[in-house]
Amino acid sequence: MRGDLATDILTAVRRVVSAPQAALHEPEFRGREWDYVKSCLDDGWVSSGGAFVDRFERELAAALDIGFAVACANGTSALQVALEIAGVLPGDEVLVPSLTFAATSNAAQHCRAVPHFVDCDEGSLGIDPQALRKHLSRIATYKDGQTTNRETRRPMKAIVPVHIFGHAARMDEICSVATEYGLAVIEDATEALGSRANGRPVGSHGVMSVLSFNGNKIVTTGGGGAILSNDSEIARRARHLTTTAKLPHRWAFIHDEPGYNYRLPNINAALGCAQLERLPDFVARKRRLAQSYAEVFREINDVTFFAERSGTQSNYWLNAILLRRGLEFQRDGILERLNDAGLQSRPAWTPMHQLSYQTGFPRAELPVTESVFSRLINLPSSPRLADGLAA
Ligand SMILES: *Cc1c(COP(=O)(O)O)cnc(C)c1O
Repeated sequence: MRGDLATDILTAVRRVVSAPQAALHEPEFRGREWDYVKSCLDDGWVSSGGAFVDRFERELAAALDIGFAVACANGTSALQVALEIAGVLPGDEVLVPSLTFAATSNAAQHCRAVPHFVDCDEGSLGIDPQALRKHLSRIATYKDGQTTNRETRRPMKAIVPVHIFGHAARMDEICSVATEYGLAVIEDATEALGSRANGRPVGSHGVMSVLSFNGNKIVTTGGGGAILSNDSEIARRARHLTTTAKLPHRWAFIHDEPGYNYRLPNINAALGCAQLERLPDFVARKRRLAQSYAEVFREINDVTFFAERSGTQSNYWLNAILLRRGLEFQRDGILERLNDAGLQSRPAWTPMHQLSYQTGFPRAELPVTESVFSRLINLPSSPRLADGLAA
């Protein structure tokens, strides 16, 4: 009998993670979180509006080297509003990867648009630009600045590349396909705060990019999100739409469209300001943890640790290993062993085109998405797991 792969993997993870129990990703509040939240409670500014919201937005814009940031209630609402501002209308199609968290494709549906699923590549886990170009040349017509899906006859308006687990998608190539087809690029950078590509922060390619500060992300506000853009008019529109479309006035309530209540409360922004101060440290520790995983998995032939592409620096939001092709049948047994041992581990999200409410939507061929899904395992990734490791 060959060596048992599940045992080998468990032993490898145990060489990195010494804590008896490890969650997939835990928040950490060792900075000024208590001080900043207390100051909101002391001065009564807990809700929408307040100094921490403005400060959080300024610091986010600086962190991504982008002109403007608009804080939102969560990443999903930020994506919805970004798509709406990009001109996505009911009945339009929005290109999204099938390998992503459901919020990416749900946000398109919240605009009454139709997600159109495209494949990823195994080097980046993000949208495969070559497969995208091939697919569009087969099904889409670009005429007078507008792309139409010849099969569904619907307009195709936007594309949402996702930086999966913090790894930069191939933005240059994706953007050049998008330009050929007149598609607005909205970057789903919800997992990639602190990641870089070609010397730039990830999230600075699209007309807009979106962040999330959910409890499991690298920086958390409890719940929260943001829309970032270099276009002041887009930022103004995002702020307006997310604050009930209320016109500024000293006392009168005048609204000029049915806006949303999607603004981030000040108390959440306070948490966010304290967390952002810790971002460089979070990234450094998560990269150290990833380095350790990479080393122990180098010794296991049937498993590849998913590492950043050259020219990119991942925040390693979630560490991932890929089983060799042919070993898909072992995935669930390995997950069982790791979770039984107190090491919270997960498969990738069920691909979007396999979820019951989305099986009827238009899609490209998705061989890489399906293969990656059947072979990928996410490992415990909290920054604190790096604390015992040698630098
Ligand atoms: C977390 C996440 C979102 C949305 O974030 P919420 O703040 O939870 O609404 C969107 N897309 C991806 C890929 C995510 O991981």
